[in-house]
Amino acid sequence: MRRMTIGSRAKRLFSDTHPVRALAAALALLATLSVLGAWYGHHELARLSAQVARLDADLASTTIALAANTAQTDAISATLSSEKVNVAGVSSQVAMLAKLQSLDPELLAKYSKVYFLNENYVPASLTTIPDQYDYFSGKTLQILPQVLPHLEAMLSAASSTGVALYAYSAYRSFDTQVALKKDYVVTFGAGTAGSFSADQGYSEHQLGTAVDLETTGMGGELTGDFAKTSAYQWLTDNAYKYGFTLSYPPGNTYYIFEPWHWRFVGIQLATYLHNSHQYFYDLDQRYIDSYLANIFD
Ligand SMILES: [Zn+2]
Repeated sequence: MRRMTIGSRAKRLFSDTHPVRALAAALALLATLSVLGAWYGHHELARLSAQVARLDADLASTTIALAANTAQTDAISATLSSEKVNVAGVSSQVAMLAKLQSLDPELLAKYSKVYFLNENYVPASLTTIPDQYDYFSGKTLQILPQVLPHLEAMLSAASSTGVALYAYSAYRSFDTQVALKKDYVVTFGAGTAGSFSADQGYSEHQLGTAVDLETTGMGGELTGDFAKTSAYQWLTDNAYKYGFTLSYPPGNTYYIFEPWHWRFVGIQLATYLHNSHQYFYDLDQRYIDSYLANIFD
């Protein structure tokens, strides 16, 4: 056997191989390589895409989890704040009840014909209206202490605009009302007296929250002419700001028109009456009662 060196083998390979065949082989190899390369590239792309999809999914689920957590946190905050509102609501209700308990329910009750005060009813306390607001010098006029600052504010506000207004009558006891009614009956006869002086027990004056007001130039009488004065006009426009309302307007079904008679019902209720063009006796008692807690605010 003929020994062949490496050099001679190579030499033989190339010398034995036809140039065209060698070229074909090279091209085939190249084609194979490019197919392999494409397959690998495609495979790698698919693998990376899958990885990206997985990361996307992870990210999405993390986002959902975060959103869920945020929603839960929001829900907890909402619950907490609604609990706070509840607690606040309960404490304001408790405060309201405590306030109501300290108040006399008679203060906002209606007293005319149907409604009346017990003959033993006397306000919890009374205070004297200072002389400067008293129409008569030397006559003691009394009113509920909580009403006095409102009355003083009203009368001094009127005075500051040049309107003279004074308290002419304020608290009257059941017995005083009995005596007054007798006087009126003697002077005017039972029928006439009944139309402008309340029977004992039906008078708002027994409450200590009602006042008869007078201005100058009226000869010291309370008459219908008071309605023609600038003092009455001023009261019509401003009394509600101080919690006072006209009890017996023109055409009321209880008494004659009493332009001088004003009752303290609290600023909130008086303002409501003023703005809605209504009078105290027009309202349902249950509605009036809802203003009791804030009567002296
Ligand atoms: Zn009166």
